[in-house]
Amino acid sequence: MVMAKLILLINHAFFVNTVTYSRNVFIPLTNACRNKCYYCGFRSSNPKIMEINEARQLMRSADGASEVLLTFGEKPDIHEKIREKLKKMGYSQFIDYLLDVCRLAISMGFLPHTNAGVLSRAELRMLKRYNASMGLMLEQAVELECHSESPGKRPEIRIKTIKDAGKLRIPFTTGILIGIGEKREDRIYSLEVIADIHKNYDHVQEVIIQNFSPKKGTKMESHPPPSIQDMLDTVRMAREILPDDVTIQIPPNLVEDVYPFLKAGARDIGGISDTTPDFVNPDHPWPELVKIERCLRGEFRLRERLPIYPKYVKLGWYSSEIAVVLQRLSDREGYRCRN
Ligand code: SF4
Repeated sequence: MVMAKLILLINHAFFVNTVTYSRNVFIPLTNACRNKCYYCGFRSSNPKIMEINEARQLMRSADGASEVLLTFGEKPDIHEKIREKLKKMGYSQFIDYLLDVCRLAISMGFLPHTNAGVLSRAELRMLKRYNASMGLMLEQAVELECHSESPGKRPEIRIKTIKDAGKLRIPFTTGILIGIGEKREDRIYSLEVIADIHKNYDHVQEVIIQNFSPKKGTKMESHPPPSIQDMLDTVRMAREILPDDVTIQIPPNLVEDVYPFLKAGARDIGGISDTTPDFVNPDHPWPELVKIERCLRGEFRLRERLPIYPKYVKLGWYSSEIAVVLQRLSDREGYRCRN
C-alpha cells in the first residue's frame, strides 16, 4: 500500500503533465473598433468607453487574480464619439487613457496584459513598460472574405505588429481562429508564419487555437462552427509546426471537454475569471476550475501561471514597473506563488 502510494506520488511529480492557466479580470475598455469582422458580436456602431472608476471597481472585485486583461476594439479613437468622451476625461488620445488604466492596475497589484489590435512600434514601446505581456491574434495569415471590411486584419500589418513586439522583447500571445472560411493549408501556413516569427525573435509564449463561434445578429450567424475533428487536427499540427517552447492554448469555455485537446498537445487553458465574463463570447461562461480538474482525468495537473510565462520571468523580459508586482506574485520557478 505504502509502495503504491509512493509510485503514485513519483508519477505525479515526474510524469503528470502540467496544464497552466491564469486568474484574470477581463476589462473591455471600449467596444469601438475600426474593423467590421463578419463574425464579431463585440463591436458596436454606437460605441461606449469604460470610465476609469468602473475599471477600478472591476479590479477591486477581482480577488485572487494576478492578471488584468485589457481587450477592446482596434484604434477606437477613429470614432468621433470616443474622441469627445476621451476629451471630457482629459485625454487627447486613447493610448494615454490606456496607459493610465495599466498604471492603475499595477498600483493595485495586478499585471496588465493588453490586446489592443495592431499597434505602431512606438505604441508597443510605451505599453511594454506597463504590461507583463501583450497579445494580438494573427487570426489567419491569408486574406479572407470575413475580413474584407477590416483594414486591421490584413495579414501583413498583423505580422508586422507581432514582429515589432519581438524586436522590443515583449512576451507575446498570438493565435489563429478556426472556421472563418480558411482552408486546412491556410491553417498550416498561418502556424508556419508564427513559428518563423518566433524563431527570429523568441518572444511568442503561447498560441491560442480558437474555434469560431457563431453569434446572433452577425453576418456569420448561420456559418457552421468548426468540427471537433478540425480543431483537434489543428492542435496536432500546431504541436508539430511550432517550436517546443511555444505553448498551445485552448479556450476552455469554447470547447465541451479540454481533455482530447490536451492529448493532442495543448498545455494551457488561458485566463479564467471568477468575477468577469468573456465579453467577446458572452454566451460561453468560464467553466469552474473543479470542472476542468475533472476533465484532466488524473493525467494532467493544473498549475496557475502569471500573464508572463516563466521563461520570460527568468530572462528578465519586463520593466522595472512590472518587476515590483512580479516579485510579489511569482514563485522561484516563475509561476504564480501560492502564498
Ligand atoms: S477586430 Fe475584434 S472587435 Fe474589431 S470587429 Fe474584428 S473581432 Fe470585432
